[in-house]
Amino acid sequence: MLKKLLATLAVAAVCFGPATVLLSVAVLANPAVAACAPGSLIVGPIPDSLTATTKNGETVTLNRQQLTHAATIITVGSQTDGVGRPGVVIALMAALTESHLRMLTNTGTYPESAEYPNDGDASDHDSLGLFQMRPQAGWGTVSELMDPNYQARAFYGGPAGPNYPSPRGLLDIPGWQQLDPGEAAQAVEVSAYPDRYQNYQPVAEAILTALTRPAPSGGGNRGEVVVPETTRVVFPLPEGTWVRTSPFGWRIDPVTFEEAFHSGSDYGAADGTPIYAAADGIVTHAGYTGSWGGLIIIEHTVGGERIASYYAHMWEHGIYVTEGMTVTAGQHIGDVGSSGKSTGPHLHLEIRPGGEGQPAIDADQWLTDQGAEGITGGTTSRASCTLTGGGR
Ligand SMILES: [Zn+2]
Repeated sequence: MLKKLLATLAVAAVCFGPATVLLSVAVLANPAVAACAPGSLIVGPIPDSLTATTKNGETVTLNRQQLTHAATIITVGSQTDGVGRPGVVIALMAALTESHLRMLTNTGTYPESAEYPNDGDASDHDSLGLFQMRPQAGWGTVSELMDPNYQARAFYGGPAGPNYPSPRGLLDIPGWQQLDPGEAAQAVEVSAYPDRYQNYQPVAEAILTALTRPAPSGGGNRGEVVVPETTRVVFPLPEGTWVRTSPFGWRIDPVTFEEAFHSGSDYGAADGTPIYAAADGIVTHAGYTGSWGGLIIIEHTVGGERIASYYAHMWEHGIYVTEGMTVTAGQHIGDVGSSGKSTGPHLHLEIRPGGEGQPAIDADQWLTDQGAEGITGGTTSRASCTLTGGGR
């Protein structure tokens, strides 16, 4: 009986430790956890619909899909230095005006735009997506512009934007903070009708207020959490610090010596090696239990699909996120440990399409299929401001 119980426990969480392989890996410095900058916008649960009134008195009702795109715009804005709440309002006004917060294809000019997740066709000039950005004006390729996350980054612009210095994003407009928000939106969109944008300012404010309220505590509302979309996937450990130690699939369990299914991919790395979020998302679990040891679960929307990523075996002091927190691809969320049913320091990574509790697939293969970027130290600093949670 006891043996059977142990075998059951082992299915999910027992991992091979790479004790011998890692002696040559330098122990990395353990970067301090950064404090959250005031004014960060944390996206909470997204409602099924939102009704607001424009300046002209028209009633606008937005559905969950439109609000999910709004969440992407808010999250990208909160991750971009210098944007802040005023910049996010301008971006929402622009996307409301240009596309009604829909990812629009342009099958007249670019038939291939229909191959990407979308919310309908507009075929206006050669414009695409949320902000109706034009490939022919240099905003990006069709593939880039059919990505809501890319469009948001291009709209905000600035030195870290994808098009710097031209075409200009909001941060590239001198003195944009002093302009009327409608005029600022117009300056980026180079449209002839600034009044159109101003009309949506009350709707943009209503969206921001509704989506950035703190996530409910207690975990009873997990089902309503919708996470911002992303296409950027990163490898969860720094380049050169890890080795593959045990793959996904059936194997002889290292503790019970019985055949058992290993639901994750194990990467051996030195104790204290930083663990990065594999993609933008929302933390739905961060805690410490017997068999998993430290466990962080992050929910993502990648390519329109809900995905949960699991990170296990951190020590209790090596968990830097809490439930409800919005995280960015590459954000330092914890440190490699060897807690729970582990035989040496490593990261046990799982990927579960459909979200938490759904069956796992081969995480290592998934990272390969997504073209996960290797991370070097320089790319992680942008993601250091959401670690205290609940900040507004
Ligand atoms: Zn494992």
